[in-house]
Amino acid sequence: MQKKISALKELSRNLWWSWDTEAKEIFEDLSPLLWQRNNHNPVGLLQHISDAELVARCQCEYGEKIDSVYDRFTAYLNNKGTWAAKNAPELVKNPVAYFSAEFGIHESVRIYSGGLGVLAGDHLKSASDLGINFIGITLFYKEGYFRQYLNHDGWQMEDYPLQHSESLPIEKVTGADGKDLIISVNIAQSEVFAQAWRLRVGRATLYLLDTNIPANEAHYRDICCRVYGGDQNMRINQEILLGIGGVKLLDKLGVKPAVYHMNEGHSAFLTLELLAMELAKGTQQNEAAEKVRSRCVFTTHTPVPAGHDRFTREMMHYTFDKYLSTSGMNFDDLMRFGSDDTNNIYGLFTMTVLALNLSRSANGVSKLHGEVSRAMWQHLYPEKTVDEVPIGHITNGIHATSWTCGYTDSFWRKYTNNIDDMSLSREAAEAVLAKVTDAELWSLRYSSKRSFIDFIDRYLANQLFHQHINSYYNDYETLRSTKNTFSPDVLTIGFARRFATYKRAPLIFRDLDRLDRIINHATRPLQIVFAGKAHPHDDAGKDYIRQIVQHSRRPQFSGKVIFLENYNLGIAKRMVSGVDIWLNTPVRPMEASGTSGEKTVLHGGLNFSVLDGWWPEAYNGENGFSIGNGECFDHHDEQDSFDAEKMYTTLETMIIPSFYERNDLDIPVKWIKKIRNAIATIAPEYNTHRMVKEYATKYYLNRK
Ligand SMILES: *Cc1c(COP(=O)(O)O)cnc(C)c1O
Repeated sequence: MQKKISALKELSRNLWWSWDTEAKEIFEDLSPLLWQRNNHNPVGLLQHISDAELVARCQCEYGEKIDSVYDRFTAYLNNKGTWAAKNAPELVKNPVAYFSAEFGIHESVRIYSGGLGVLAGDHLKSASDLGINFIGITLFYKEGYFRQYLNHDGWQMEDYPLQHSESLPIEKVTGADGKDLIISVNIAQSEVFAQAWRLRVGRATLYLLDTNIPANEAHYRDICCRVYGGDQNMRINQEILLGIGGVKLLDKLGVKPAVYHMNEGHSAFLTLELLAMELAKGTQQNEAAEKVRSRCVFTTHTPVPAGHDRFTREMMHYTFDKYLSTSGMNFDDLMRFGSDDTNNIYGLFTMTVLALNLSRSANGVSKLHGEVSRAMWQHLYPEKTVDEVPIGHITNGIHATSWTCGYTDSFWRKYTNNIDDMSLSREAAEAVLAKVTDAELWSLRYSSKRSFIDFIDRYLANQLFHQHINSYYNDYETLRSTKNTFSPDVLTIGFARRFATYKRAPLIFRDLDRLDRIINHATRPLQIVFAGKAHPHDDAGKDYIRQIVQHSRRPQFSGKVIFLENYNLGIAKRMVSGVDIWLNTPVRPMEASGTSGEKTVLHGGLNFSVLDGWWPEAYNGENGFSIGNGECFDHHDEQDSFDAEKMYTTLETMIIPSFYERNDLDIPVKWIKKIRNAIATIAPEYNTHRMVKEYATKYYLNRK
């Protein structure tokens, strides 16, 4: 019995469970209520359950279920026949060290803010599945990213609940002497110390650096407080800890990475530490830089010049003063690596430029974003044409088994033993689809939507209750009475992502009368669910949230347009499975890739998006819907009018008619044909197994 209990505890401490439905169930089954209260965190859950209860439960079937999950888990960890073993043995021997300021692995580990982190988490999971020896490096943010709630006005409020290490699946890293492993970095005139935590994600390991220890002065402890919190000064401190501290940690652990991968420029200071290590061996600077370059790869995610991290010369001078005294380079050397102006080293220090200068390869995250990046950075390569600028692309994907939860997971398991088969090729996906009837696909849509609508009902009751106690207005009763008018018979649109203004969340409200006619059509109505957080400093983004909340309270939209608070990985999973249409309205070409639309496909959801990010590559005219044809206007207003017009027209003339057109059995045959096309063409391409294999063969292996 003790064996089963320790197996259960071991399972709770490896996030592998988060993409294994049966593993998830053994925790949820213990207590659905505690599961929910602990934000789906098995470590937290188990703290509330006595050994006596566990012993009793393990006597019967429940114990057998643990055995079966645990056997699968150990077989997974010990599998020697992985993709990497066959195709990239070099990456089994030495690890890939992947640095990212955030990792979105599961909603219970709040060390992510949005898409960049979710991508990093999905990359980590696929690397584990494929058998690549993979180490992630990030920071342990004590408060994580904020929890969002709305006040009575619809204005975003933030609070920052602490996350306690003892109720997370992390453990302290210790050295050979059994003591906590501590590294330090020089910031300004101080030595700042950090301890390291280890989080297991399948076969992969994520290390989290943590300055929140007594050895540090209070203001340095706060480096590990919030994801993207604070000012520029906090930002540079976090980036020093991530890049320089991360390299020092790996060195102290004796890890010899095959390659260092910078996921966005935040971690680019890692190149400086590698350089300092070379210089300390007596290598000349040019040669040292060449050596660093040969070991690093860089992925950029930012399609607008203003979005890149930049630090002033004064800030660099102040922050790197002590560091430079021991690193073997002087201030001008340092500034030159990050100078965005080939003639003038006195300008700003740009993290992306540092990363481009000191890595052997660089890539954008979709075909279009690759093109945009080459044009944006051409001035760094004056001798090259735009096409020759050495920035390629690998289009982002999603970790399919993490995103096929609930009904969808059990649905596909009736037709295939391994859902990942559908990620392999179009033929493989079509072979699975051939076994599924239209009626079955339609029942999947209904089951998923019903489950989502039931969830909305419970969630909104709670949300409205809190809005009520946070306000002096007595509108709770009126709001409550409208909350459960969502219906699974109605075409449902979902929109959820960070509320960066370029994503234009309120675009669909541009013509209220037209939207009213669409939403309240007597026989072919529409309902819309929104969610998303604005960065705490982004008042324009917060205003977008408020606009949507206020629109949702207009009588004509009440109960038909809703906003769900506190978008996170858990809400995302619910939404992508529950909606018929996933809407995306970025200003082209500002969406580097976007991934959320990729998550909806295996649930039978269809994308409806501006041709930006990954969508121009994937869209074939039959596997979803586009907003316009990639037309770009100089003026925002013109662009918004044009795109809104296209959006309404496409809804009225294509989307709504084909959803509501039914055969004798009440099945929307044309709609289902599109779902089949989407699954066959999108699932096999836009997943992180394909993406990580591409990183491995194109960039990590560096076979000449
Ligand atoms: C997938 C995901 C994102 C990224 O969404 P995009 O539409 O690609 O910007 C952001 N946040 C969460 C919680 C996600 O799951």
